[in-house]
Amino acid sequence: VLVWLILGLAGVLLVVEWLRGASLANTFNAAVALAVGAIPEGLPAAVTILLAVGVSTMAKRGALIRRLPAVETLGSTTVICSDKTGTLTENQMTVTTVLAAGETFDLTGVGFDGGGELQREGARVAPDVSQALLEALRAGALCNDTRLVRGADEDLKVEGDPTEAALTVAARKAGLDEPALASFTRLDVVPFESAHMYMASLHKGTDGTTLYVKGSSDALLARCVERLEADGRIGPFDEAIVQCAVEAMAARGLRVLVMARRTPSDGTLRTAHEDVAQLTFLGLVGMIDPPRAEAKRAVAACLGAGIKVKMITGDHAVTATAIAHELGLEGARDDAGRLRAVTGRELSAMSEQELAAVADASAVFARVAPEQKLALVRALQSRGHVVAMTGDGVNDAPALKQADIGVAMGRNGTDVARSASAMILTDDNFATIAAAVEEGRGIYDNLVKFIAWTLPTNGGEGLVLLAAVLFGTTLPVLPVQLLWVNLATALLGTSLIFEPREPGLMQRPPRPARASILDRALGIRTALVSLAVGAAAFGCFEWAQLHGLSDAASRTIAVNTIVVVEVGYLFACRSLSLPSWKIGLFTNPTVWLGAAGMLGVQLALTYVPIMNRLFHTAPIDLWWWGVMTAIGLFVFVLAEVKKAWTARSRVVRGDAVARTGESAAG
Ligand code: ADP
Ligand code: MG
Repeated sequence: VLVWLILGLAGVLLVVEWLRGASLANTFNAAVALAVGAIPEGLPAAVTILLAVGVSTMAKRGALIRRLPAVETLGSTTVICSDKTGTLTENQMTVTTVLAAGETFDLTGVGFDGGGELQREGARVAPDVSQALLEALRAGALCNDTRLVRGADEDLKVEGDPTEAALTVAARKAGLDEPALASFTRLDVVPFESAHMYMASLHKGTDGTTLYVKGSSDALLARCVERLEADGRIGPFDEAIVQCAVEAMAARGLRVLVMARRTPSDGTLRTAHEDVAQLTFLGLVGMIDPPRAEAKRAVAACLGAGIKVKMITGDHAVTATAIAHELGLEGARDDAGRLRAVTGRELSAMSEQELAAVADASAVFARVAPEQKLALVRALQSRGHVVAMTGDGVNDAPALKQADIGVAMGRNGTDVARSASAMILTDDNFATIAAAVEEGRGIYDNLVKFIAWTLPTNGGEGLVLLAAVLFGTTLPVLPVQLLWVNLATALLGTSLIFEPREPGLMQRPPRPARASILDRALGIRTALVSLAVGAAAFGCFEWAQLHGLSDAASRTIAVNTIVVVEVGYLFACRSLSLPSWKIGLFTNPTVWLGAAGMLGVQLALTYVPIMNRLFHTAPIDLWWWGVMTAIGLFVFVLAEVKKAWTARSRVVRGDAVARTGESAAG
C-alpha cells in the first residue's frame, strides 16, 4: 500500500514539474526527497527490535520463540491443540489400583520415596497373596526402561518415562525391589511407541523364558486368550468383562495399562510384533495423573479470550474425558451433557468435510495416533483457524510444521520435534502457551501502535514536499534531513514496545488473521495526522521565510516541527482506543525517555556546529520551540478528543465490546 501511495505522489510531482517546465535537476531532486521522506526507512529495524524484545519477554515466561514472526502469529491464535499427558497434567504418575484375577488391590502413598504399601480391603498384604498380582507387578517392573536414581540431594529422581516410573515405584511398594528381580535377565525388547501402544520384553528367569507385555487396553485385550488366576492356574479370559473394568477405572480419570505375559513352551522366542499374541492376561494397573492447577486457570483464560482448547491424547477416551471435565474444556457434548471424545478410529473413517466439522466442534480427541494430528491441523485450518499444536515425538513433526505455531516440549521432547516447531516450552506446561498468546497479543497491539505513530512522519514529509512543488517554493526539507528524522524517530519511538498491556487484552476475541494492520479507522486517523504534520511543517517553514530567515534556518524549523508534533502524537498513540488519562500519563516511563531522546537529538541537530555542516541546518531562536510545542500539544489533544468521541459513539451504538481487529483504533 505504501509503495503505491508513494508512486502515486511521485507521479503527481513529476506531472506538475513537467507542466511547469522545471529543469531536470530540480525535478530529480524533488523526486528523491519525496521518496526519502515517504519511505519509512526506520520501520524494518524498529519492527525487528519490537519482535526481538517480545521474544526475550516470552523467554522469561518459559516460551522460546524460534522464528521471529511467530510472535505476531501467536497473537492471532484461535485454537490450541494440546497433548494431555505432561502438558495439561502433572505427569507425575502414581499407581493407585491394581486389578488381578478379579480382585482389587490398592497402593497407598504418593511420590517416589514417600513410602506406601500394598493393601486389599484396607489391610496390608504381601504381593504373593495372588500369583496374578505378583506377575502383574513383575511385568510392570521388568517391562520397563526407566530407572530411579538417587540425586545429589538424596531425592529419588526418574530417568525416563513417568508412566514406567510409576510401575517401578508400585512394584517397590509391594516389596519387588531390584534384588527381588535380579534373577530375571533381559534377552530382548520391543520398546514402547505411541503408534503401537505397548512394550514387550523377553526375560530369562529361573524357570524358562517369559515375554512380559504392557500397554493400552485397545492394543492388548484382543491379543489375550487366557487369564492367570490367584492360585497360579490358567483360567478363561472374558474380554467384555475386562473392558468394563477398564472403563470403570478410566471414568475415574485413571490411566489404565494392561499387563500380560506369554510363556513359550519351547523356551525360545523371537521378540517381534507377531509374538505379542496368544497372551495370558495378568491384570490391570490404574494410575492417577492429576491435571495441573495452572492449566485449569489457563484453559479458562483461553476460553475467555475466544480461543478454543482441544486435548489430543493417545490415552483412553474415558480417561481423557474425565480429565477434560476437570480442566473445564468446552466442546461438543453427548445427550447426558458429558464432553464427547472422538477417537482416532472414528477420525480415520471420516470424510474431509466431516473431519473439519468434528475437529472444529469437539474438544477431546483420544487414542489418536501422532500421524492423525496432521489431518486435524489441516482440518482446523480449512475452517480458517490459526492453530497452535503441541508435540514431542518424531512422528509429531509433520503436524508441528503444518501448524501455524508448532509447540515442542523442551524437557521431554525430541530434537526432531523441536526443530520442526516455532516455539519451545521450557517447562512443558500448557499455561505457558496461554501466557505466550497473551504476550503475543500485547506485542501485536504495541506493533500496531508503533506503526500508527510512525507513518504520519512519512505522510507529513511527503505532503510537505508535494506542497512545496505545487506552490513552487524552495524545498522545505532536504533528503538528508528527512533520512535523519525517519531513522531517529523510528528508533526512539520503539519506546512504545514497553507500553504495558491494555486491560481486557484476554477478554476480547482473537484478531482475524487476515485483518490489515491499518484498518479503515486507523488509516483515516493516519491520513489526518499526516495532514496536520505536513501543514504544520510547511506553514512554519513559510512563516520563517517571511521573517527573512535563511533557507538553512527555515529548514531547521520545518524539520523540528515534524519531530515535535510527532512527539506530541507519541503520547496519544500509547493506546489507540483508551484516552491517556485512563491509562495514566506516567505508566510507561520509557516513552518519556524516548520523547526526551528525540528532543535531545533535535537540539544537537540544531545547535552543534558539526551537525549544522553535515545536515545543512542552522541554530534557531528559542521562541520557535514554543510555537512548535504548542502545535504538538494541539495535535495530542485533538487525537485524545477523537478517541474519547469514538469510544462514546461506540457505547451509543451499543457495541461497547472491546475492539476487535476489524474496528481497531477509532
Ligand atoms: P499420551 O502421551 O497422549 O497420554 P501415549 O501415546 O503416550 O499417550 O500413550 C497411549 C497409551 O499407551 C496409554 O493410554 C497407555 O495405555 C499406553 N502406554 C503409555 N506409555 C506406555 C509405556 N511406557 N509402555 C506401555 N504402554 C504405554
Ligand atoms: Mg506419552
